[in-house]
This record gives sequence, structure tokens and C-alpha cells, in this order.
Amino acid sequence: MSYFPADMPRPEPTMDEARFWDYCSKRSLRFQSCAHCGTLRHPPIAMCYRCHSCETDYVEAPTEAEVYSYTVVHHASHPAVAMRLPYVVAIVEFPKMPGVRLITNLTDIDAGGVKIGLRCSLWWDDIGEGMFIPRFRPVDA
Ligand code: ZN
Repeated sequence: MSYFPADMPRPEPTMDEARFWDYCSKRSLRFQSCAHCGTLRHPPIAMCYRCHSCETDYVEAPTEAEVYSYTVVHHASHPAVAMRLPYVVAIVEFPKMPGVRLITNLTDIDAGGVKIGLRCSLWWDDIGEGMFIPRFRPVDA
């Protein structure tokens, strides 16, 4: 069973995001990097903002991250999330991948226990039809 109910809207990848989600479908969290200068970036975009190269690679992310920022959601913006309230939307960063941040959900924690810098680990949420969403839980959970 997925973290949110099946009627939760699914990601609809753009052309630039397709490769990111293809890796996610294989339970591999990879971020786009510039094949010319190595600059990491997320979300994926067509051109490097540093050197303007359009050549890209994808680099495997560590499975551990830290909470950079977060919010606790108390009001359902969509009927599908009502059963999860309150839930945590977090921006996590990867100390070994400077400059990359991911918007995700922090699960398996009481919303009052979330702190900036909290170490968390990746888990894959199977939402069906071959799609997996990267979510995080505290390392100690
Ligand atoms: Zn570049």
C-alpha cells in the first residue's frame, strides 16, 4: 500500500524530467549532472546554468539525506491526502552532493519531532503501474 491513497494525483513528468522518473521506476535515485562541467542540478533542466552545455549524466544519490527545511501540512489540499493529515513535506539535501535538494515527504515520524538537520534515509513508495516515489524516514525509525 502506498503512503497516499491510489487516487492521489501521480507525477506527470515533463520531457526534461522523464529520465529522472525512469531511474525512480528502477528504485534508483539519480540526479542530473552536467556532462561537461559536472554541476549537479535538480529538478532536471535542458541546459547547464553554469557552462550552457546540453549534455547530461545522471549520478546516483546517497541513500541518506538531511532535512534542509520542512512544513507540516494540516489542511487537505486534495481529498486524497485527508487521511494522512498531518503529514510532513520536507526539502532534503545530500551532504555528499552539494547543491542538490529534493522535495519529498518525511514519514514514520510524529510531525512535532521533525528538526532541521535531521538525518533521514530513502525508501521507495510503490504507487503502482511501475512507478516509485522517493520518500524519506528518520535514520533511527
Ligand atoms: Zn556545465
